[in-house]
Amino acid sequence: MKIKAAVTHANAEPFQIETVDLEEPKAGEILVKIAACGICHTDEATQHEQVPTPLPAVLGHEGAGIVEKVGEGVTEFKKGDRVGFSFAFCGHCDNCHTAHVASCEHFNDINFGGVLRDGTSRLSQNGETLSMFFGQSAFAEYAVVDADCAIKVEDDSIDLGIVAPLGCGIQTGAGTVLNFLKPEFGSSIVVFGCGAVYFAAGLKPHSLRAGGRASGQAL
Ligand SMILES: [Zn+2]
Ligand SMILES: [Zn+2]
Repeated sequence: MKIKAAVTHANAEPFQIETVDLEEPKAGEILVKIAACGICHTDEATQHEQVPTPLPAVLGHEGAGIVEKVGEGVTEFKKGDRVGFSFAFCGHCDNCHTAHVASCEHFNDINFGGVLRDGTSRLSQNGETLSMFFGQSAFAEYAVVDADCAIKVEDDSIDLGIVAPLGCGIQTGAGTVLNFLKPEFGSSIVVFGCGAVYFAAGLKPHSLRAGGRASGQAL
């Protein structure tokens, strides 16, 4: 299908909104109409070739939207579901099997290698393959993502613009504090910076728990 996407053609060139071709979702994948996508430092770093994703590419890795179509074998989502999604993981290595998907042994290949799990991209332009990014390439009207990397947003009152940065910035900040630093009761930590990572790291743990939306939990 023809879609509009923000294409990064070469090192340090600005994003160009252009028409590209997006393939249908394959087995285990979903097609999502993008409602919102955050912008992360890693997008800018890749735009400047500080990340080994081959250009040209469609970046964007904090996407959220509405399921348009599901591929073969996908039963957990249906057309119309509201979803957010995050980085890709293989689902088969030792780290994935022990629920440490952020340390997937194939993380670099399927997030920065320009392809999905099966080693191919769903994006092209004038017959030339475009790299995908973080298994989603969400700087676009539509994206094909692995269903395993998506989370259904059950509460219709939650703005998908808020859901989008959960895919990277918010879980990075909150996860660092809650899952790794684990500050003891009464202790203090200092968080430097700004943006989604900073704001998520700077939230009081009890305010995250009260919302029930700490990193890694379904909404
Ligand atoms: Zn990011
Ligand atoms: Zn893995």
